Amino acid sequence: MHSTSSSIPTGSYTLPAEIQEFCDVAKRIVRDELMPLESQWLSSPNHAYGMRELPAIRAVFDQATAARLEKISRDTGLFYLMVPEEWGGLGLPMLAQAAILEQLYYSPIMLPIANVANILYECKGDQIERFLKPVIEGAKVTAFAQTEPDAGSDPGGMMQTRAVRKGNGWVVNGTKMWISNANECDFLMVQAVTDAEKRQRGGITMFLVDRKNPGLRVEVPGIRTWLSTEAKQHVVHFDDVFVPDEDVLGEVGKGFSLGQRWLTIHDRLLRGPYALGKMQRSLDMSVEWAKQRVTFGKPLAERQAIQWRLVDMHIDIQALRSMTYEMAARADTGEDVRAEAALVKLCSSEWGARCVDHAIQVHGAMGESLDLPLTLFYRVLRHTQIGGGASEIQRILIARKLLNG
Ligand SMILES: Cc1cc2nc3c(=O)[nH]c(=O)nc-3n(C[C@H](O)[C@H](O)[C@H](O)COP(=O)(O)OP(=O)(O)OC[C@H]3O[C@@H](n4cnc5c(N)ncnc54)[C@H](O)[C@@H]3O)c2cc1C
Repeated sequence: MHSTSSSIPTGSYTLPAEIQEFCDVAKRIVRDELMPLESQWLSSPNHAYGMRELPAIRAVFDQATAARLEKISRDTGLFYLMVPEEWGGLGLPMLAQAAILEQLYYSPIMLPIANVANILYECKGDQIERFLKPVIEGAKVTAFAQTEPDAGSDPGGMMQTRAVRKGNGWVVNGTKMWISNANECDFLMVQAVTDAEKRQRGGITMFLVDRKNPGLRVEVPGIRTWLSTEAKQHVVHFDDVFVPDEDVLGEVGKGFSLGQRWLTIHDRLLRGPYALGKMQRSLDMSVEWAKQRVTFGKPLAERQAIQWRLVDMHIDIQALRSMTYEMAARADTGEDVRAEAALVKLCSSEWGARCVDHAIQVHGAMGESLDLPLTLFYRVLRHTQIGGGASEIQRILIARKLLNG
């Protein structure tokens, strides 16, 4: 039932030979190493949306399997595919990263790679040894703490968490909510208001806060969602949490734009390949299923109603792929792609969910089986219409550019 007939994007985005090779390697690993483990992954309660790749693999599989997957990732170089060259990575442009990630996202299993928040490359001085390098190597895990009980879509305007100067540092007070990974991470990248007048225009700062900092309390159990049986999103309380000056990430007052930089790339532009892998897999599964499933004396594939669903899925995939690779290529030129990344986020989450919805319908009852990846794909893609900035907020960003240039 499972096949890997997804094609590597070509057309106006011909990839250099070595990138094409990486795509082929990624595709082979998915088929030979990850897909045979999918039933174990899908039946495990131990992975959850928002978990980093390495902890998720270690949580689901035995030590030997997890170590083997990590070794494959490191030996092939894929482990460093998102890391800049100066930090020992492959230094790949966004377009190449997107093409390779699309192949990896064909499976619900996440090959362990160094998925480093791009803003951590702002680390300076001993932050590099304490935070950046351990995250690159998978020795430390991060969480991103922006959202609050009363500040989701409008964090700049509504954020209540405050940091007040004290001696050679800051005292943070407030509550964050919906923070993925908060109870597993080693440190959190926390936004707090440091100048209430300026707020998002120079009055929000990003702090690197150790999870074990006295005064920081993660509510357990976390918030249950439909994304996983384990509750991995948490409310986090900061009660007089002292953060020294050397743990400010970037400059004081520039924490909001840092957050936007992380969201633009990770939660928006890279949602393109995230969705594409799952959409292509859903289409490939649907084509195979439609050919073999017979009703009223004929395979489903011969019914126009079913063919049109397959075609609609194909259209969404082709359109999203073109858009994603164009925007990634534009990001590689240094262009400000905030609105373009919003467009990719909007389309990948909305088209992605409707594409998987078609696949579930084509599969009938089998589409609802938790032994297939389809319902998981649906849930995570539907989630991306909310997480990382809901669809309405992406539309606001796009409209702003349309109207104001
Ligand atoms: C599973 C999960 C994981 C998450 N992980 C993290 C994390 O790790 N770190 C973190 O900081 N946050 C995280 N979040 C929070 C997430 O980013 C926010 O939930 C999201 O930004 C939406 O905010 P909200 O829920 O407060 O919605 P609200 O702001 O209350 O908005 C509710 C609805 O109204 C719409 N809306 C709001 N304003 C407007 C407007 N002006 N015009 C039209 N419509 C509008 C919104 O689009 C949305 O549909 C996570 C959330 C979930 C569910």
